[in-house]
Amino acid sequence: MANDFPILKPGSTLGILGGGQLGRMLALAAARFGLRCHVFSPEKESCAFDIAYAKTCASYEDEAALTRFADSCDLITFEFENVPAETADFLVTNKKAVLPDPAILATTQDRLAEKHFLTDFEIKTAPYAEISSDVDLPVAIVQVQAPAVMKTRRLGYDGKGQAVVSQGDDPAAAWKAIGEVPAILEGFVDFDLEISVVAARGRDGSFAAFEPTENIHRDHILHKSIVPANITPAVAKEAVSIARKIADELKYVGVLAVEMFVVPKDGKYELLVNEIAPRVHNSGHWTIDGANVSQFEQHVRAVAGWPLGRPRRIGQVEMTNLIGDEIESWKKFAALPNTAVHVYGKGEARPGRKMGHVTRVTPED
Ligand code: AMP
Repeated sequence: MANDFPILKPGSTLGILGGGQLGRMLALAAARFGLRCHVFSPEKESCAFDIAYAKTCASYEDEAALTRFADSCDLITFEFENVPAETADFLVTNKKAVLPDPAILATTQDRLAEKHFLTDFEIKTAPYAEISSDVDLPVAIVQVQAPAVMKTRRLGYDGKGQAVVSQGDDPAAAWKAIGEVPAILEGFVDFDLEISVVAARGRDGSFAAFEPTENIHRDHILHKSIVPANITPAVAKEAVSIARKIADELKYVGVLAVEMFVVPKDGKYELLVNEIAPRVHNSGHWTIDGANVSQFEQHVRAVAGWPLGRPRRIGQVEMTNLIGDEIESWKKFAALPNTAVHVYGKGEARPGRKMGHVTRVTPED
């Protein structure tokens, strides 16, 4: 289907569903290629609006607004994986050109469907069990064993919709804590580190990955990304081949990120996939300043039907998120050598809100 869509030429309009910092950085990358971006977001204060050629502020359920938006775009993509399924269906049914294929969202929006997908393709994950009603709780805890994490199937991010079940805990308490909604119980993984692979797949099936990134979280939110990750070349190769398998099986077009746990096992390391993000990803922000092609440029190239760039890192890289009022220190970072400051132009610096990031690139000899 992707091959039926027009190849975007400079001057074309790329629609972006979602108006956060990912949309903003995508639009900035698209602008370099002479593409115009039309941003669709339900939130008035969307920071991608500030730099877009056109904007629509309407709900994802507003079919008239969606139609007008789609008619003004040559191709549509998204920066946000929780685009409602009805919105995706509406665009597909009305034959709008959307990449990556929104059908993929059915798999990645639902932690259970995602785990089944990975298991079907023999990609390892933490042990898991389905919780659809309280009847499932005793079976799940025997199957998975505490310690475990209960996660809502849908709409969880940055640790939201999660509750830990320690040894001896009643899993019913965790289920209550997450609102007694459909969930999975996942075995707690004693990992050495967390990594992600940010990779692109083109319309023609071409594939290009950035080097695996080591990710350090604070309060469940990404704090730092470090590249190269502290893993062996064999683990790095395996991580990239897992990401490639996922992208190929999904017939994916665009940039995706695969988060993995690196777990010591029998004197070696095993990789367990935690999550697939069908979009550009926070752990790929380092590529703007630390590589010859950024994840945002790669995504634009992939969906536009252009050749993918060949990513090459240009130094040792450390990306640090500026969360909440940490953004106040932008001036301090702006004075440091080899340091790029990114401010997303959002309004209020609420606790936990991603306001910007800084990337330090130390040239390698
Ligand atoms: P998630 O929302 O699934 O990406 O989880 C957010 C973070 O919680 C992960 O990046 C891990 O640091 C931690 N986490 C999630 N699942 C597990 C698990 N099964 N075992 C250990 N830590 C986990």
